[in-house]
Amino acid sequence: MPTEPKLPEIQRGTEVFAVDPLTIRAHFEVDYIHSYKQDTPLFHGLAKRKLMGSHCKKCKYRYATPRSHCMYCGGKTEWFDLPIEGRVHSWTVCYFAAEEFLKEVPFTLVLVEFAGVNTLFLSRLIGLEQKDMKVGMKVKAKFRRKATWSVRDVYFVSAEE
Ligand SMILES: [Zn+2]
Repeated sequence: MPTEPKLPEIQRGTEVFAVDPLTIRAHFEVDYIHSYKQDTPLFHGLAKRKLMGSHCKKCKYRYATPRSHCMYCGGKTEWFDLPIEGRVHSWTVCYFAAEEFLKEVPFTLVLVEFAGVNTLFLSRLIGLEQKDMKVGMKVKAKFRRKATWSVRDVYFVSAEE
């Protein structure tokens, strides 16, 4: 009697986290090649140790987190240099994060406000304990020496005397 063809059994076990609904671990890894498109000047600026914002030519609204078009009037924006120093608007200490940053917890995220700019800039703040943080305290941008071409190329430290 001829034998039916069959696939070989897989010897590696599968980790089951729950039976119903069946929940298993699946490894997922992917490399993206993506364009920063209209945000490109922001990253070129970071590599040159500059913060770049955008402002609306029509209504003059100024964005610390740049955007190509104004969220109020739809007008096209233009780039401008943000100041390197700003003030703490608020902050939070993160005890959990995306997998990439888990090894760095706890870390502090800060919303920085700049004089004459209408929106805030989210970044990492280092070198201060939570007990020493104050709303309104002066902070200044620092830049990584080697660009990673991401927003992680900038972080803030205290600029208080
Ligand atoms: Zn506008």
